[in-house]
Amino acid sequence: MELDQHAEELASALGVDKEEVKSDLQNLLQYSVPIDEAKQSVRRKHGGSSSGGSAAPSSKQIADIEPGGGNVSVTVRVLTVGTRSIVYQGEEQTIREGQLADESGVISYTAWQDFGFSPGDSVTIGNAGVREWDGNPELNIGSASTVGIESDPVETPYDDQIGGESDLIDLAAGDRGRAVEVRVLEVESRTISGRNGETTILSGVLADETGRLPFTDWAPRPDLEEGASLRFEDVYVREFRGVPQVNLSEFSTVEVLDTAVEVTDSAPRLKIGEAVGAGGMFDVEVLGNVLEVRDGSGLIERCPDCSRVVQNGQCRQHGAVDGDDDMRVKAILDDGTGTVTAILDRDLTEEIYGGTMADAMEAAREAMDKEVVADAIADTLVGHEYRVRGNLSVDEYGANLEADEFEESTDDPADRATAVLTEVEA
Ligand SMILES: [Zn+2]
Repeated sequence: MELDQHAEELASALGVDKEEVKSDLQNLLQYSVPIDEAKQSVRRKHGGSSSGGSAAPSSKQIADIEPGGGNVSVTVRVLTVGTRSIVYQGEEQTIREGQLADESGVISYTAWQDFGFSPGDSVTIGNAGVREWDGNPELNIGSASTVGIESDPVETPYDDQIGGESDLIDLAAGDRGRAVEVRVLEVESRTISGRNGETTILSGVLADETGRLPFTDWAPRPDLEEGASLRFEDVYVREFRGVPQVNLSEFSTVEVLDTAVEVTDSAPRLKIGEAVGAGGMFDVEVLGNVLEVRDGSGLIERCPDCSRVVQNGQCRQHGAVDGDDDMRVKAILDDGTGTVTAILDRDLTEEIYGGTMADAMEAAREAMDKEVVADAIADTLVGHEYRVRGNLSVDEYGANLEADEFEESTDDPADRATAVLTEVEA
């Protein structure tokens, strides 16, 4: 049967204009939708019942979709399309993930083949599976599903999310197909053993006006240089030690920007309890009293192979080793809402100690006891309030804040009381 005949038959069955039906069908066929599926889709669009299929999926608004409710059909606006390569049942496969919206809500999807839709397209997706992920329904668009482009745009309150344009502060683990404009603050090249043997990746830190985040580029691009202002499209976000991390895949695009991206110098200041409760944060600032300087502070030795701290000449991984000297501080801070262990590197430790590592070694030799260094540090810190900025990680052993900055608080207690009062009143 010719397209004309299909259109004629369908138009008379639905009682609508033949040219309109024909154009809808053409739209669908252009995306390799089989003619029978295309006719069903057009029938549904015009309110006709879909014949020819048993237990046809029900047309749903996004807000009404529930896991376990059977397959569904939706007419939606495509917000984001992220492309990713995964290994599924031993085979490498390219999938598309992102978000769809209608006037009732937003839903995530995974498409197991390229249905040809792009951000901004309005589509009717027929026979999509529904699965639950992290407590929310998600659409599974597979070989049994159909996708037809709609000629009339689907209006949604989420149109500003089309294309996935994002500020760094808004990114969360699970985001797909996002676009960001950033400056590269730090970048380093590393060799890892990946899926296909040894591979080189780039990792570092990005910033924009709203914040800073770590990144990994799994398909290293020379444009990712320190100081470069770049636009990334089709990046995804995943969690690494409780911190969102921007990931560039082989499908991400990188464009060098003509104008420099403005970046922020400050980190958000949080209560310790709040920061720890968030499960970890990249670049955060807290204020707390030092309760205690923990064992393993002051002069320490590190394994030359793995940098782990050596105890009694033994590395946990490498056994008896000749350790390299180093200095650090592990200080427990408390602000009344929670506690965190601030970890200071050698530079910050030397600053607190008020001398170089050579000075500390000399003092230890004189006293014939390394602990004099840790004791001196404890005398300086304990009972005083410090401002710490750094990266917070939380695991089963507690919360550690790897300090980039560590300074005695200069806040006047009276000023702070006023500030708190203002906050309460506001
Ligand atoms: Zn070791």
